[in-house]
Amino acid sequence: MVCVFPSMVMAFTDYLKGQNDYLRQFLGYENTYLNHLLNLEIPPTNLSCDSCSSFEARFRCLDCYGRRWLCQGCLIDCHIHHPFHRPQQWKDGSFENVSLCDLGYVFKLGHLSSSRSCPEDDDMFGDRRMTVIHVNGIFEHCVRFCKCLGANSEHLQLFNHRLFSSSFDRPETAFTLDVLEYYGIDSMECKTSAQSFFQKLRRVTNNAFPDDVPVRYNCHLFYSILLLIFNNRTDTTS
Ligand SMILES: [Zn+2]
Ligand SMILES: [Zn+2]
Ligand SMILES: [Zn+2]
Repeated sequence: MVCVFPSMVMAFTDYLKGQNDYLRQFLGYENTYLNHLLNLEIPPTNLSCDSCSSFEARFRCLDCYGRRWLCQGCLIDCHIHHPFHRPQQWKDGSFENVSLCDLGYVFKLGHLSSSRSCPEDDDMFGDRRMTVIHVNGIFEHCVRFCKCLGANSEHLQLFNHRLFSSSFDRPETAFTLDVLEYYGIDSMECKTSAQSFFQKLRRVTNNAFPDDVPVRYNCHLFYSILLLIFNNRTDTTS
């Protein structure tokens, strides 16, 4: 019988040695990393918009790749297809989280794929403020449904944009299919309860004050929707 103990000890020693080497190397860079981290939290010296150059810019987006510095109009234009990005505004000497909705972003349903505008697009009074839950947080959005003759019902319009509505009559909350899929994996691998997952999303949205995150429903509704989806999936796969 081959004794594997010495080789296991050697492998573990190598592992610790590698880990220690890494930490020792990092200590040499510690202050450099801290300085670069602080530099990420100051605005550029040139405050003009990276996109139009014509206005003084005050916004950046944490989810866009690259460090772009944008005015409000260009920020909205750049996010037509990215409603779940999280912009920040430089205000009174620091960056503050702001929502695309509060800056004038309208979440349009119905005609984006064909690049046509809904004839009812100018009917601002038909817009509805909704809560939309995605993997990176809980968002408020001003949603504009298609009102053309023969248009799908509101919950189906949402579903065609990969959003699952919490109500079939007058939706005020919707979940992206991504977050439902993500929860399925989270509960399988990490045994996360619906309540903990929901609380995690609130903290991702506002780490300092998670209870301030506005929600139009409680986690029991979230739990019901998850049960509905995942029980059905179990039924169909068993
Ligand atoms: Zn601009
Ligand atoms: Zn972005
Ligand atoms: Zn329409």
